[in-house]
Amino acid sequence: FLGGKTAVVTGSNSGIGLGIAHELARAGADVVLNSFTDAPEDHALAESMAREHGVKVRYIQADMSKGADCRALIEKAGTCDILVNNAGIQHVAPIPDFPAGKWDAIIAINLSSAFHTTAAALPLMRKAGWGRVINIASAHGLTASEYKSAYVAAKHGVVGLTKVTALETAKEPITCNAICPGYVLTPIVEKQIPDQMKTHNMSREDVIAKVMLQRQPSGQFATVEQMGGTAVFLCSPAADQITGTTISVDGGWTAL
Ligand code: NAD
Repeated sequence: FLGGKTAVVTGSNSGIGLGIAHELARAGADVVLNSFTDAPEDHALAESMAREHGVKVRYIQADMSKGADCRALIEKAGTCDILVNNAGIQHVAPIPDFPAGKWDAIIAINLSSAFHTTAAALPLMRKAGWGRVINIASAHGLTASEYKSAYVAAKHGVVGLTKVTALETAKEPITCNAICPGYVLTPIVEKQIPDQMKTHNMSREDVIAKVMLQRQPSGQFATVEQMGGTAVFLCSPAADQITGTTISVDGGWTAL
């Protein structure tokens, strides 16, 4: 049902972004994949996704830490009916030890990029007469954990930006919502395991069960396919009146 629509997914050469891109392509959308790299594998990924789903898939390099690159991504895409702001990074450290450069990078990539891409995409959605902005926030957009100051601040900011975008488009056939995943076993989570093992002096298995999934009452990781399915739902007519809100896909995390 998304035939003829184009989806731009930031940070989509791995993890949740890639999973969402696959599900949107499966539903018929043409896709623009993105990351800050410009490797042969990135373009090969676009080719294989196009072949698998029978849609057009392009890979466009753009660094989401830079406002001008964020806007250039949308300009190069040319059309953007569905914008998925997904690019994100993480750093874990207590506030006094938190490197200022990491704070700046996390705010830029996880929060400011969504402002810049949305600013560039809304005029294209208005011209097309339809649009969906889907921001990938986090359970950490609604709750906090120690040692994740920049990430939690950025994700709460994404939830705020989601509400403002929804209000500014409320009278139009454009919606904006945030998906709030709990833990999904992707590279960003893999990379946190060694730090958490050190911080908590625990084995890998104990970090997964007692630190990560301890917050997730289901006791299971959520999957990238479930994030993709939620994004597809937000693009469906059933979701036409869903705007300015958050959808948690977190195994019960935020019910605790
Ligand atoms: P990931 O590390 O697999 O993916 C992050 C993506 O962002 C990659 O494609 C990476 O290339 C891209 N990226 C990083 N820096 C970039 C930059 N400067 N410019 C462009 N692209 C850049 O991690 P993921 O788990 O798939 O995370 C995707 C999103 O989901 C993030 O916003 C993350 O905060 C959010 N999230 C993840 C989880 C989880 O448990 N995995 C939970 C809640 C929210």
